Amino acid sequence: MKEYIIHDDWKIIEEGFHPEYNRVSESLFSLGNGRMGQRGNFEETYTGDTLQGSYLAGIYYPDKTRVGWWKNGYPEYFAKIPNSANWIGLSVWLDGKELDIAKCNVISFRRELDMKEGILRRRMYLTTAQGHQIEVVSERFISLARKEIGLVNYKIRSLNFSGQLKVSSYLNGNVRNEDSNYGESFWDPVRQEVSDKGGLLVSKTKKTNFEVCYTFNSHAYLENAEVNPIGFRANEGKIAQEYEVHLEHNNCFEITKYVGIQSVLYQSLDDLQLRTLDKLRKAEAKGYKKLKKEQIEFWHKKWAESDITIEGDPAAQQAIRFNIFHLYQTYTGDDARLNIGPKGFTGEKYGGVTYWDTEAYCLPFFLRTSKGEVARNLLKYRHNHLAKAIENAASLGFSRGAALYPMVTINGEECHNEWEITFEEIHRNGAMAMAIRNYLDYTNDVDYIAEFGLEVLIGISRFWAQRVNWSEDKQKYVMLGVTGPNEYENNVNNNWYTNYLAVQTLQFTLDMCRLIQEMNTDRFNDIICSTSLDIENELPCWQDIINQIYLPFDDQRQIFLQQDGFLDKDLVRTDLLPADQRPIHEHWSWDRILRSCYIKQADVLQGLYFFEQDFDKALIKRHFDFYEPLTVHESSLSACIHSILASRIGYHKKAYEMYLHTARLDLDDYNNDTRDGLHITSMGGTWMSIVEGFGGLRSVKGNLHLDPVCPSQWSRYSFTIIFQDQPIRVTISQSQTLIKNLGDQSIIIYLHDEGIELAPNNDHIAVHSTAEGTLN
Ligand code: BGC
Repeated sequence: MKEYIIHDDWKIIEEGFHPEYNRVSESLFSLGNGRMGQRGNFEETYTGDTLQGSYLAGIYYPDKTRVGWWKNGYPEYFAKIPNSANWIGLSVWLDGKELDIAKCNVISFRRELDMKEGILRRRMYLTTAQGHQIEVVSERFISLARKEIGLVNYKIRSLNFSGQLKVSSYLNGNVRNEDSNYGESFWDPVRQEVSDKGGLLVSKTKKTNFEVCYTFNSHAYLENAEVNPIGFRANEGKIAQEYEVHLEHNNCFEITKYVGIQSVLYQSLDDLQLRTLDKLRKAEAKGYKKLKKEQIEFWHKKWAESDITIEGDPAAQQAIRFNIFHLYQTYTGDDARLNIGPKGFTGEKYGGVTYWDTEAYCLPFFLRTSKGEVARNLLKYRHNHLAKAIENAASLGFSRGAALYPMVTINGEECHNEWEITFEEIHRNGAMAMAIRNYLDYTNDVDYIAEFGLEVLIGISRFWAQRVNWSEDKQKYVMLGVTGPNEYENNVNNNWYTNYLAVQTLQFTLDMCRLIQEMNTDRFNDIICSTSLDIENELPCWQDIINQIYLPFDDQRQIFLQQDGFLDKDLVRTDLLPADQRPIHEHWSWDRILRSCYIKQADVLQGLYFFEQDFDKALIKRHFDFYEPLTVHESSLSACIHSILASRIGYHKKAYEMYLHTARLDLDDYNNDTRDGLHITSMGGTWMSIVEGFGGLRSVKGNLHLDPVCPSQWSRYSFTIIFQDQPIRVTISQSQTLIKNLGDQSIIIYLHDEGIELAPNNDHIAVHSTAEGTLN
C-alpha cells in the first residue's frame, strides 16, 4: 500500500513530488470526458519514469496476437485503444537548456485533481541544474460540455534570473504503445500544418484506418501583453508553435493551449478537418475562462444528481467521489458503440476493450444514477454484437444460432488469447443475460426485451444448452472444462457459479419468451422467424436442463462447492499466508496457485450476490464463512462483492474493511498496480458497496427496497438514485433514515419491507431500531 495521497473531501492531492510513484500519480490524476482521456503526464519534458497516455474512445488498432503456443480458435489480434497524439505538450528552454523536471531540484510541488470542478492543477518551485529558479502554475481540463475540446493553461515565472525563455507548444502524433506486441507504431501521419493562427494534425491508425484530426492554437502573454509565435514547425506527425521572450526577474509568461480532437467516428471523413477546426475556433472565441466556467457548471450539475456524501470519514468520502468521478469521465452513455474498459482511459493495460465487468459491475451504477438511455446503450452494445457472438460460437463448434460473447472485445470479435479464459471463462455470457434481467427489474422496460433483449437471451441460452452434457454417471447435466470468475482455477468441471448462472439464464429466457408472446405476439413471431427458434424442441430442452442441472454441494458443510473436487485442496486460510508472499500471483508459480485453495475474486459468492433472492441469510453466512477466509482479493472486482454480502449478513466490520479496500484500491494502491491505470470497472462495485451494501438497495419485481444501516465510522451518509425517472435522495444516520422524493411523481418504496408512498417533494423519516439501523 502507498498512502501518499492527502485526504480531502473534494480533491486528490499530492504534496511534495514523489517521482518513485510518478506512474501511480499519472493514473490517479487522469482526466476524461467519455470521448477521450489523458493520463496525468506533465506538460513539460520529463525523462523520469512515465507512461505517456492519451486515448480516444472507439478508436482501436488490431495488434497481431503474440502467444507462445498457438491454439486453434485463438483470435488473430488484440484490439488496443492506441496511445494517440500528445496534445498537452509544452517544451520549455531556459537560456537554451531544456527544462526537465526529472533533472531539477524540486523545492515544492503540489498537484491536485479538483473533482468538484473537473480540473487538474499543479504548482511547483524548481531549481534547474543551471541554477534557474522558477515557479510553474498550470491547470488543464477536458471539457465535458464540448466533447472535442481540451485545454491547458500554463504559467512560468522567473524567481531569480533574467534571461531567455523559449516555449514550444506542440502536438505530437509520433507516439507509441509500451504494450505493442511487435514494437510497431500504430499510426500513420496524414497531414500537418501550422501557422500563427493555429495548427492541424491528421493521423490515421494503421490497418483500421481510423482518421483523427487534431487542431490547436496557443495564446501567449508576457506580463499580460500578448506575444506572437516566432517560429512554426511541421514535421512528419508533429506540429509546434514556438515563442521566445526575455524574462526579467519575477516576470510571468502565460500560455493557453486550445485543442480540438475529433475522429471519423463522429464526422464524415470529408468534413472531419473543417469541423474540427470549427470546434476549435468556437472554443477560442468563447475563451478559457468561460470554457472553464462551463466545465465547473457541468460538474456541479453532475454532482447534484449523483453525489454520495459521507460524514465523519474523510478517507471514505474522498474515495467514493474519486470512484464516481472516474466513472463519469469514462462513460457518458450517449453512444451505444462505446463501452467501458477495465482501465478506462487511464492506461494501456487491457487495451481499453470491454469485459464482463461492464454488465456485472458498471451497469448497476449507470442504471441507478442516470436516465434510462445510458443503461439501455450499455445493453445495446451487446445486441449490436450479437451476430459476431454467434460467429464466435460457430468458430468454436457451436451451431444453430448459439452465441458466445467474447471475453474481451471492442467490435464484437474475440481478442483474448489464453485458452483457459478465451474458451473456458464462459460465465461472461451469463453476465450479459443477467444485466438484461437487472435492467428489466429496475425499469420495467419490456419494450427493450421485445426489441433487442430477447434475441440476445435466445443466443446465449442456445449456447448453454449446447455447452452442457448429460452425465450418465451423475444422471444430471454437467458442464466440463470451464474457468469461473476465480481465475486461480482453470479447466475445472462444474463450477457452481457457471452452472447456476446458466440455468438462471435459461429460466429468464423462458420467462421472457412467455411474456413477449403474451404482450406482443407479432413481435414474438418475428423473433421466432429471425432466430429460427424451435418452440417445440428448444424450449422443453432448456426446461429439462433447468430441472436436472448438477450443482456441486457438500452435505457435511451444507455449502455449494466452487467446483468438483474443491475439498481435496489443503484448506489453509489466507491469514496464515506470509505477507511477503502476497500478492501470490507475483510470488508463486502458476501451478502452485492452481493447486492451492486460494480464490482470486468472488466466485461462489459472486453467485450468491447475483441471486441473493434465491437464498436465505443463513446460507449466505455459511458460504461467506467458508470462502471469504480463502480469498486473496487479487482482482479489483472482489472486495466490493464481499463488502455487499458482509453488510447483508451483518458482518459490519468486514463490510467496512472491504469497502475501504474497494474504494481506496487505486488511491492507496492496494494491489501494487495503479501505475498501469485505474480500476475503472471496479469503481462501479465501490458505488454498489455503499448503495446496495450499506444502503441495502434491491429491486425486486419492479419494486424498490431499502434496508439501510450506517457504519459506525460514519455519522451520516447520503446517496441519490433515479427510480422510475424520479430522483430520490436517501440519507442514513446512526439514528434514522430519511428518504426524499425529489421528483414530480409519487413513488412507492419499501423500507425494511414496509411499503411507503412518497408524494413529489415529500420525505419520509424512519427512526432505526438499533438492531437494524446501526453498525456498532
Ligand atoms: C479478472 C476478470 C476481469 C478482468 C478485467 C481480471 O483480473 O479476474 O474477472 O474481467 O481482470 O477487469
